[in-house]
Amino acid sequence: MRIGHGYDVHRLAPGRRLVLGGVEIPCELGLEGHSDADAATHALMDALLGAAGLGDIGKLFPDTDSRTLNIDSLKLLDQVTELVRSKGFRVGNADVTIVAQAPKLSPYTEKMAAVLAAHLHVEAGRVNVKATTEEHLGEVSTKGIAAHAVVLLEEVRPRTRAL
Ligand code: MG
Repeated sequence: MRIGHGYDVHRLAPGRRLVLGGVEIPCELGLEGHSDADAATHALMDALLGAAGLGDIGKLFPDTDSRTLNIDSLKLLDQVTELVRSKGFRVGNADVTIVAQAPKLSPYTEKMAAVLAAHLHVEAGRVNVKATTEEHLGEVSTKGIAAHAVVLLEEVRPRTRAL
């Protein structure tokens, strides 16, 4: 078994959509970024890559690449899932925590978990998404939205050792 952690944060800004865990949430402000700025999906991808020892999404999808401008992050997650599976891993479980002062995200977390599980090719019960505030103590969770993710990968076949 291999464990990985991911963290991401994006700034809130007017004129942008708010997409978290692949779910669009009605809000006056959205997240700024090169892609759709889905911090939850980005944290999840970094946790997957971390567990598999494959670097991070900044290396895989540099923000200088015009092909990923405003891209749906679920499309990037599909690529990461495929990469991780191609290396002989399957997802044991994933746990995502979104840190935001507003808007209230709890009505959407179950749907996010279902969407992310589908893109990870695992049953819904293997993905958990939760949301918390920082009780107005955090600048990051007031001016932006942050997300943490932890992933457990299982090796489905032994990797070939480099000689
Ligand atoms: Mg990001």
